[in-house]
Amino acid sequence: MTNHDVMQQTDEFILGTYKRFPVALESGENATLKDFDGKTYIDFASGIGVCSLGCGNESWLSAITAQAKKLPHVSNLFYTEPAATAAKMLVERTGMQGVFFSNSGAEANEGAIKLARKYSFDKYGAGRNQIITLNHSFHGRTITTLAATGQDVFHNYFFPFTEGFVYAEPNDTASIKSACMSGTVCAVLMELIQGEGGVLPLDQAFVQEVAEFCQSRDILLLIDEVQTGVGRTGSLFCFQQYGITPDVVTFAKGIAAGLPFGGVLAAKSCASTLSAGTHATTFGGNPICAAGAVAVLSQLTPDFLAEVAQKGAYIRETIAGWNLPVVTSVRGLGLMIGVGVSCSHREAVGKLVESGLLALTAGADTIRLMPPLTITKAEIDAGLEILKQILSAY
Ligand SMILES: *Cc1c(COP(=O)(O)O)cnc(C)c1O
Repeated sequence: MTNHDVMQQTDEFILGTYKRFPVALESGENATLKDFDGKTYIDFASGIGVCSLGCGNESWLSAITAQAKKLPHVSNLFYTEPAATAAKMLVERTGMQGVFFSNSGAEANEGAIKLARKYSFDKYGAGRNQIITLNHSFHGRTITTLAATGQDVFHNYFFPFTEGFVYAEPNDTASIKSACMSGTVCAVLMELIQGEGGVLPLDQAFVQEVAEFCQSRDILLLIDEVQTGVGRTGSLFCFQQYGITPDVVTFAKGIAAGLPFGGVLAAKSCASTLSAGTHATTFGGNPICAAGAVAVLSQLTPDFLAEVAQKGAYIRETIAGWNLPVVTSVRGLGLMIGVGVSCSHREAVGKLVESGLLALTAGADTIRLMPPLTITKAEIDAGLEILKQILSAY
């Protein structure tokens, strides 16, 4: 098949929910991908932060293929070893108490929302069920996580949305406190770096104030690390750089390096809330995906994470050093990078893709860069060369 064949067949038979770039990718080696016509691309997108170990990582490949041969799936009615191992690694490295495994980010957030509402119901009875989220946030595409998402553009067509979400302003503690005045709030849900919203890092002081306020009112603090988690920002989870102890942390995207996997980590305060029969999923904790997660977590050593932070700093400093008129700001942490531009971000990313660099958009004016965590210096430099060439022409 050629690019054209794949694109034509896709457009004919797959519902048109996605505005895709005109490239059909066929294979890859670490952060260098190839399309069906043999053209190569440097990958600064990693499938929206999913391919954390790039393409063809040997220990990930052997872990998932070995597990697929041994036992692909058994359901959550029985015990399996990979899920137990992945859970132990996550709990021991976060200080949380336990984890529920899901298949995606939206499902992880659904689990966190259910947990928060039940925690409050068990302790205070019905009615204390509101959840505060932030403007410019993104929490998923299910009816409930769309409602949780603090952007009006997502609140269309699918009415009625789930009730009980209240929106507050990021980096404005007063806005959070006033949203809690009713006394009916059970949780605050937020990303520490708003990803889809534009790679907007929250202020550390704001996050710490919210954490203290929540704790003083027994309001659960739910941190959505679906995008920031699993090494992306240079620590295993981003909250570990913010000096807070959340009640709940959700994750997905990069956890199994390309397989659909995610979860909800719960602290001791609320680890027994989701008791037997209150929450479940058929695929969650699947042994192949869990084996992939173990392979990822095993590679995210302190040295590896320090390298992620260094690579990110190098990319941000290099871009800022070009002093290009079109670049309005360079933001982010680790390998989650936002480049604010004064031109159309969508048009610029289209040109990047055409020139052999896969990148993403975010917010209204940001080019988002999220390479595989394993990207090499040579791949980074090759990608930056293309970025410089395209952005210099504006
Ligand atoms: C991608 C994302 C989600 C949704 O994850 P899916 O796997 O697409 O359901 C939720 N929250 C954040 C912060 C995300 O970046």
